[in-house]
Amino acid sequence: MPIIAALILTELIIQAIKTKSPLYVALMDARKAFDIVWHLGLMREMHKFGLTGDNWLFFKRWYENLKSKIKWKGLLSNSIEEQQGVRQGGIWSPTAYKIFINSLLQTFERNQLGACIGPIYCGIPTVADDVALISTDPYELQTMLNVQADHANKLRYLLSEQKSTILVYNDKLPKSWSLNGKSVTLSESAVHLGIDRNITKNAGVKEVVNKRRIPIEGEIHKKILKTFGNIIRNDKSVEREIAFRQLAMKDEKSGSWFTKLHNLTVIYGLPSPYDIIENPPSKISWNRLVNNCINNHFLQNLKKEAKEKSSLKYINFNDSNIGTVHNIWKSSGLTPYSINMAAIKVKIATGIMILQYQRSRFSKNCISAICPLCNIEPEDMTHFILKCEKLSSIRNRFMQELKSLLVDCNKPPLLIQELFDDKENLLHLIIDCTSYHFLTYKEQVRIETLTRGLCYKLYHKRLLLMSE
Ligand SMILES: [Zn+2]
Repeated sequence: MPIIAALILTELIIQAIKTKSPLYVALMDARKAFDIVWHLGLMREMHKFGLTGDNWLFFKRWYENLKSKIKWKGLLSNSIEEQQGVRQGGIWSPTAYKIFINSLLQTFERNQLGACIGPIYCGIPTVADDVALISTDPYELQTMLNVQADHANKLRYLLSEQKSTILVYNDKLPKSWSLNGKSVTLSESAVHLGIDRNITKNAGVKEVVNKRRIPIEGEIHKKILKTFGNIIRNDKSVEREIAFRQLAMKDEKSGSWFTKLHNLTVIYGLPSPYDIIENPPSKISWNRLVNNCINNHFLQNLKKEAKEKSSLKYINFNDSNIGTVHNIWKSSGLTPYSINMAAIKVKIATGIMILQYQRSRFSKNCISAICPLCNIEPEDMTHFILKCEKLSSIRNRFMQELKSLLVDCNKPPLLIQELFDDKENLLHLIIDCTSYHFLTYKEQVRIETLTRGLCYKLYHKRLLLMSE
């Protein structure tokens, strides 16, 4: 799980930045090592790891029969026996590699070489072919590099000193480190574990979230909270120990990932990490809770925002949900013609179509608000959809149809009268009838189909008259 190894690194970097103490991180490029693993060495390490008997023989056979063919311009070569490398793409390969470097990790841990968070050793977080050596002491880091180089030489894999790099935090004095007698470059940032780190940035991690209040932020928060769930469900892991320790020790100002996590649970109304860490919820129930709380949070924000916008006043938000499609689109079907009509309907419903009334307001009344078609009164939504006499030839036919549709749906005559007598009610019915819960879903689709046609025809007639 790369994200969790990256998390350990992040915690250490934040701690160093906040306490203004030095930290040295060597990011080892062992990619070559991953490709070139000496099979006999791997077999030996696997045996030491505890893989014995038939299982060991199985692996041995599996690697002995490793043959490759090279495809070149559509032709296949004869097969070549491989003496090195873990099986690429095989599900065992990361595991095989981990076993391979297990002895290295044990050496580091046994000698407590490398950094700790509190009493918890985290000097060498590794994921597949990424290895980070972390220390708070420059001499210790050199020792770690020597141990790593020695291990590589003994087990015949390659470490590239050109591709390995060292990040230095809170130490301005010149320093140098070497690997196999060659100096290792220091760098401002390095791509490690998929996260681009930069020592000039406050948190040590490049900002990936921008300030827009869009659900991408929510998606990232979901990932964070679900990762926390994974951590605390993973009994006896270092990550869980760190979670315990950091939640107990760190305050608001520490910048720790875990206090940020705590803040997220407050924002989204989720149970506190302090309460669930001892007794973690199951993966399914925690992930579901996280999804629901975060979706709901953004939905409520969106609805609140929409209510404040007068241009959206005919749209029914109360029944909308994250991931569901509005009736205007859902009822339109898939033919290009009806999609085109639905697009016009959306323009009108969301106020993207600018009528003379809005144009006048935007110009601070320099432009007249009077309807350019009939010159009688200001052209607002009510005038355009329901009143403008220049459009009445189109409108009247649709209004008759709309009324008979409601009669056909067995709606009480008094209700129909109320809908048609009040202009606001009628606009709601035409622009977004889903706010009327006395209509069934099927009836809403029928009405939408009809009003989609009305809006489309009105829109085009208006364009036509304007161009004359
Ligand atoms: Zn008019």
